[in-house]
Amino acid sequence: MLRRLEATYPNAECALHHRNAWELLVATILSAQCTDVRVNLVTPELFRKFPTPKAMAEASIPALEQEIRSTGFYHNKAKSISGAAKLLITKFHGKVPKTMAELLTLPGVARKTGNVVLGVAFGLAEGIVVDTHVFRVSRRLSLTQSEEPKKVEQDLMQIIPRDHWIQFSHELIYHGRQVCIARKPRCIDCTVETLCHAPDKTWSSH
Ligand code: SF4
Repeated sequence: MLRRLEATYPNAECALHHRNAWELLVATILSAQCTDVRVNLVTPELFRKFPTPKAMAEASIPALEQEIRSTGFYHNKAKSISGAAKLLITKFHGKVPKTMAELLTLPGVARKTGNVVLGVAFGLAEGIVVDTHVFRVSRRLSLTQSEEPKKVEQDLMQIIPRDHWIQFSHELIYHGRQVCIARKPRCIDCTVETLCHAPDKTWSSH
């Protein structure tokens, strides 16, 4: 399965535009309940106005809300990115920390965001990103039967070799977006179809 996914999505990568770990952290916080495309429309202007953690820590909440409104849940997201910026300044010398334990102390950061930042910005595999696509596709592929993202991540970490953790989630996200879509998966075009026994398959060779 890993070989086929790798061959199908050789260039799978994080879709959130960013120039450094801080921008990726903010973009990932903004991506909750929102598409990456929408986030990418918002972040250039946000980072033009507030280019550093210091600038963002000093920005007023309403000014941040104004910039990120279209990503939804903007009250909470503004509080999170403001709080994260302030904590970075006061506790982490203005730099994004490189451990999950430290990242989890930042407001608005749970394991998914921590894994995105560690994996994409720093190349560190501390866990596996479980977003909506990874959650759905790994369940369809019988890689897990768990119903909570946290447990799904633990299950995947047991069976996926660690040196594949980062790329595997990128590949599953691509697969979930392009082929194994939520409502009507395109099983006839799926390169792992022979390995899949999902009850909601739309086509089956076996
Ligand atoms: S066969 Fe269908 S349900 Fe299974 S992984 Fe492929 S697209 Fe998804």
